[in-house]
Amino acid sequence: MRILITGGAGFIGSHLTERLLREGHEVVAIDNFFTGSRDNVKKFLDNKNYEVIRHDVTVPFSAEVDMIFNLACPASPVHYQRFPVQTLKTSLLGSINMLELAREKNARIVQASTSEVYGDPNISPQVETYWGNVNPIGIRACYDEGKRASEALFFDYYRQYKVEIKVARIFNTYGPNMALNDGRVVSNFLVQALQNLPITMYGDGLQTRSFCFVSDLVDGLFKLAFSHKEIQGPINLGNPNEFTMLQLAELIIELTGSNSKIEFKPLPSDDPKQRKPDISQAKEDLAWEPTIELREGIQASVEYFKTALSK
Ligand code: NAD
Ligand code: UDP
Repeated sequence: MRILITGGAGFIGSHLTERLLREGHEVVAIDNFFTGSRDNVKKFLDNKNYEVIRHDVTVPFSAEVDMIFNLACPASPVHYQRFPVQTLKTSLLGSINMLELAREKNARIVQASTSEVYGDPNISPQVETYWGNVNPIGIRACYDEGKRASEALFFDYYRQYKVEIKVARIFNTYGPNMALNDGRVVSNFLVQALQNLPITMYGDGLQTRSFCFVSDLVDGLFKLAFSHKEIQGPINLGNPNEFTMLQLAELIIELTGSNSKIEFKPLPSDDPKQRKPDISQAKEDLAWEPTIELREGIQASVEYFKTALSK
């Protein structure tokens, strides 16, 4: 298949590219390099089944494609809050442009949605039938509401035009190829610990997240994309093991052998207190569940961050 990945030079996009090329597909990546990097795709450039194009998804794009993964969107709060209007445009216009392309080419399209559609959830674990608790005017709204509107668009393109859609709700994912300045918690703590700098803990550190190693996540996305067409989602993809940010910091300090100390900082507004996916649906529909636990995944990430910091 010829597969288009928007946001293909980003963290998840680069791992997905590797998987799709390995499976024998052609990959066309489009990216505006807002948070993605050339380094992430350097190793594919010699592959005859790969090309990368600088393009902003808010502008229509055309190519002969059989399948689309719509990943373009800054995912780190630091970056999406830096350009909130651009973030919302990326979700909305990017989704419309890619859905139009899917419609025109009769291509299947997979949306990288997020656990953020649940906002600061009132139930735990979060199940797909939960409608969420999102502040529509807060500093996270550009991302959360953009992704919620994208989900609506995907289902409307399905209902109105019969476009073949798949919607994944991705929970916190980490691993190699995250940018050093990404700003999300795992990369921040690793970068800080490896340099013996203070660990920036927002709030009391008792808020929780459930971290999925990127190879597990890519496997879930792959299985969803190639599942039979009745499976549309939205479907949670994440690791259900939940940790406090203090536990994460302690683990990272231990595994890096760091002298870093924890420094408490104010909690940003609307920061969700808990997050844990119910993955029963993914287990049942895709026979998918994560296999790499946090300790192993952090260990596997340490080497990457060490090398990246030494460059
Ligand atoms: P990332 O920031 O590394 O990747 C996003 C990519 O999209 C980057 O390469 C960036 O340059 C590109 N991009 C941004 N705006 C664009 C635009 N207007 N046009 C073209 N390209 C654009 O983040 P990631 O973690 O790889 O996330 C990929 C996708 O998965 C995002 O849609 C994100 O919302 C979703 N997601 C990620 C996580 C996670 O924990 N990593 C969780 C939930 C959802
Ligand atoms: N966080 C932190 N220190 C950091 C970065 C993040 O304590 O340097 C906290 C953040 O407040 C949140 C959690 O870690 O409670 C996860 O943040 P991240 O930005 O990775 O993703 P989110 O799930 O909030 O979108």
